[in-house]
Amino acid sequence: TPARKPLMAGNWKMNKNHLDALLLVQKMAFALKEPDFEAVDVVVCPPFTDLRTVQTVIAADNYAIQYGAQDVSQHASGAYTGEIAASMLAKLGCSYVIVGHSERREYHAEDDALVNAKAKAVLGAEMTPIVCVGEGLEVRKSGGHVAHVLAQLDGALEKISAEQVRRTVIAYEPVWAIGTGEVATPQDAQEVCGAIRTRLAELYDGGVADQVRILYGGSVKGDNIARLMAQADVDGALVGGASLDPGEFVKICRYRD
Ligand code: PEP
Repeated sequence: TPARKPLMAGNWKMNKNHLDALLLVQKMAFALKEPDFEAVDVVVCPPFTDLRTVQTVIAADNYAIQYGAQDVSQHASGAYTGEIAASMLAKLGCSYVIVGHSERREYHAEDDALVNAKAKAVLGAEMTPIVCVGEGLEVRKSGGHVAHVLAQLDGALEKISAEQVRRTVIAYEPVWAIGTGEVATPQDAQEVCGAIRTRLAELYDGGVADQVRILYGGSVKGDNIARLMAQADVDGALVGGASLDPGEFVKICRYRD
């Protein structure tokens, strides 16, 4: 099996001001500083207004933690009041940007074409998009979840090259599992993550598909992460609620301990 480095990404959503962020990221980074901790990539995605603080904390002590944003504009610059460009995030040292989170899709009417444009903007700025896909409860109940997710994937990857997709991360986040405490079973997570990898092999080739990291997201906690990570096609997690608790997030990052 190919060696894909596990990735644990925390999505703080609209929580923590820039001073709270200082405390939170310092606690996490300190607990992950030991030289033995290199086997997992750890990323935090705070609100835009916290990024400068996070950059300062991490740069100050060479912490082995990376950071990114929760959204980005599809435009490069110009008259887009309230928007943030990918180049601005790259300049602040961001290496990842979440695109197409279900909350953006639901509350900001983001469709697959917009998610695709945002992913391209992130790739164009030499950062890694974390492209979120996932079905709602009705789709899951009807049994259409795999088809739904693969359609989202196709749309999000439109005209993205093999070279670019290699440095893209896909996050499978069933909407019914987000913030509900109802984690998908490891088998459910594997079914969809496996289907995503098979589709990547169809869209590109098997070698490319083997390199792409696929995350599971939805009520991941310290006590369910190991079973999820045991699945062949689950390469990490996108973590919401638990990423606000340094103890819990560090436990997730240290799932092998
Ligand atoms: C998320 O919103 O990306 C998420 C996975 O949230 P939670 O972990 O709180 O379910």
